[in-house]
Amino acid sequence: MTELIEIKNLNKSFGTNHVLRGIDFTVSQGEVVCVIGPSGSGKSTLLRCVNLLEQPEEGQVFVRGEDITDRDCHLDDARKHIGMVFQQFNLFPHLNVLANCTIAQTTVLRRSAAEAEQVARANLDRVGLNDKVTAYPAQLSGGQQQRVAIARALSMDPAVMLFDEPTSALDPELVGDVLTVMRKLALDGMTMLVVTHEMAFAREVADRVVFMDDGVIVEQGPPAEVIGNPSHERTRVFLKRVL
Ligand code: ADP
Ligand code: MG
Repeated sequence: MTELIEIKNLNKSFGTNHVLRGIDFTVSQGEVVCVIGPSGSGKSTLLRCVNLLEQPEEGQVFVRGEDITDRDCHLDDARKHIGMVFQQFNLFPHLNVLANCTIAQTTVLRRSAAEAEQVARANLDRVGLNDKVTAYPAQLSGGQQQRVAIARALSMDPAVMLFDEPTSALDPELVGDVLTVMRKLALDGMTMLVVTHEMAFAREVADRVVFMDDGVIVEQGPPAEVIGNPSHERTRVFLKRVL
């Protein structure tokens, strides 16, 4: 098994708030890992440390064997392999759907406009939005915007996709379309690290579920164990509240 992400003794504080307390954790090639846990437990901070949107004080993050926390590591090179989808879609409002999906390809990956467009169209097709290429974000529903954000991330050919509560900002009737796209990605073999409150999705799609509380990993394992038959009281208390 190839480790795509390896996290060793990750520690992160904001002032006196010790948010991540020695996280050790790996994600293998092709694996879908769902991270669950109460609000404030450090899930977003963990994801943000994986692509160095936050700088950890202690510990290491390896992506494909390369230590991206090493001072000599070039940040753009490290991030190139990592796609990230946020709760708020963060599309460029002044760019249409196609341009949202090509701009980083041409600027960061130096692809030609023609190649970038071809890749973008293929990925917009994948998320079911090939009829929206000329639309602007404001003309789309939240679910459609989130699917554009997924297509945009995929267009960079990432080795791993990080999702931080991708459906939490959506109206309930729009959640399903986004989860369907994510399910399809998982079936295609994409390596995914997903913070989510969608327990049905985690149960069905995750190879492994990680329960975090108070900056530590309390338990992890197959969904049938962690969600279906948790071994820790903290996990049981959390699940009772969300299920
Ligand atoms: P979760 O995603 O599990 O809800 P977060 O990782 O967002 O948790 O937050 C964990 C803790 O870190 C919280 O106490 C939060 O207030 C704090 N925190 C997160 N980001 C920042 C930041 N940029 N500055 C200060 N505190 C932060
Ligand atoms: Mg969060």
